[in-house]
Amino acid sequence: MDTIFQKIIKREIPADIVYEDKDIIAFNDINPQAPIHILIVPKKIIETLNDINENDEKLIGRMFTVAKFLAKKNNISETGYRTIFNCNDDGGQTVYHIHLHLLGGRALNWPPG
Ligand code: 5GP
Repeated sequence: MDTIFQKIIKREIPADIVYEDKDIIAFNDINPQAPIHILIVPKKIIETLNDINENDEKLIGRMFTVAKFLAKKNNISETGYRTIFNCNDDGGQTVYHIHLHLLGGRALNWPPG
């Protein structure tokens, strides 16, 4: 069964899409944890970080290039931001299609809860 992110990629459910290319889509998180909270999602279905392999290295790298681009576009490059992949239950993953969180626009606590 498709995850919510696959449904967004297929335009079956709406999302506030802020970036798209042939391999990646990015949209605002529905439940933002910071003034800027964007999810950067590969179109390829990969359930968790445990499922990436060497063939995905370029794609994973590209996700960070998109994060950098979107940070600049949202004027948080200089103030700072955080990028996060959550993996499985203890990592707080709730959608099983890998995604990179881009958070910024406020000071973020460390360590995370
Ligand atoms: P995870 O907990 O898996 O790392 O992150 C999943 C994220 O997806 C959460 O931050 C959650 O708010 C977001 N999310 C869940 N469902 C939707 C949705 O339907 N639309 C959007 N835009 N974000 C969603």
